[in-house]
Amino acid sequence: MSESKKKCRPYSVDYLKLGSIPSSSDKQLPMCLLCNKVLGNDAMKASKLQNHLRRRHPDKTDKDLKYFQTLKDKLQKRPTLDRMFASTSQRNDDGLRASYNISLLIAKSGKPHTIGEKLILPAVEEVLKTVLHKPASDIIKRIPSSNNTVERRIDEMSSGIESFLCNYLQTTDFSIQLDESTLPGNVALLLAYVRFIMNQEIYEERHFARTLTTDTKDFESRFEDVLTMVIPPWVNNPYGDIEETNVIIQEKLTELSTNEELKVQFKNGYQQFWLQNNIPVTYPVLWNIAKKFLISFPSSYLVERGFSAATNITGLHKNRPGYHS
Ligand SMILES: [Zn+2]
Repeated sequence: MSESKKKCRPYSVDYLKLGSIPSSSDKQLPMCLLCNKVLGNDAMKASKLQNHLRRRHPDKTDKDLKYFQTLKDKLQKRPTLDRMFASTSQRNDDGLRASYNISLLIAKSGKPHTIGEKLILPAVEEVLKTVLHKPASDIIKRIPSSNNTVERRIDEMSSGIESFLCNYLQTTDFSIQLDESTLPGNVALLLAYVRFIMNQEIYEERHFARTLTTDTKDFESRFEDVLTMVIPPWVNNPYGDIEETNVIIQEKLTELSTNEELKVQFKNGYQQFWLQNNIPVTYPVLWNIAKKFLISFPSSYLVERGFSAATNITGLHKNRPGYHS
């Protein structure tokens, strides 16, 4: 007889007949199916189990094996605390994930954070109830989306993005555009936009929106050089006539115009052309000039969108010169 069979022997049918199975915490100890009490090691003998049954459960002494088998099956199907906890926490995780994703949707929409509680959850509830015929309140309860929660999530997420952006901007050239507007109550709002190159693509991000205590004119004069830049024609068209007085640049442009490999990208526009990976390495002189222009001009679209988000959030829809919705 094998070792394992020997060990299992005390809990064979004979012992089940006496109302006992191996305890789940220690397979060497018997557990009474009637009172769920784990009995000591000395109870391993049939006579001891019989004793327990007779003294503690006198009304069950005449029960047969089938009765205890049913009890055993029921017990094993019963959800354990572990299993119960795992499935609840999985559900809570899902609710938490949904809560973050909804907050992200709200942030991206530029709508006030209060629409989570006011509009989105009631809409979700309606779909669950009417389309899926599910009791909605159970599910809704698991998605923390109160006004305060959404506001906190958006703050958490944006501070993550902001610190990534700040770190990245310290390693690269970027341009910044500032847009100032005044909200009621004489609150001055400053919106800052940055434009930079990352992984061969140009990015524009709203860097920050702050209420101001000082004058923005100071900022504007500091970035005046960016605003008054003149673009050399060869940045827009590196294959056009070279009207360049600088001899080194002239030379490099001639060299560039013979590079057939680079030329392919030019059909996708001058930005795609200059953003090619090997340009900074092969033509650093030209690249250092061209990149300044690539990152210099934030699109008016982003600026307007930022303004519109700020006015939405403050609940203000004011017409503003030069702003078209
Ligand atoms: Zn018992």
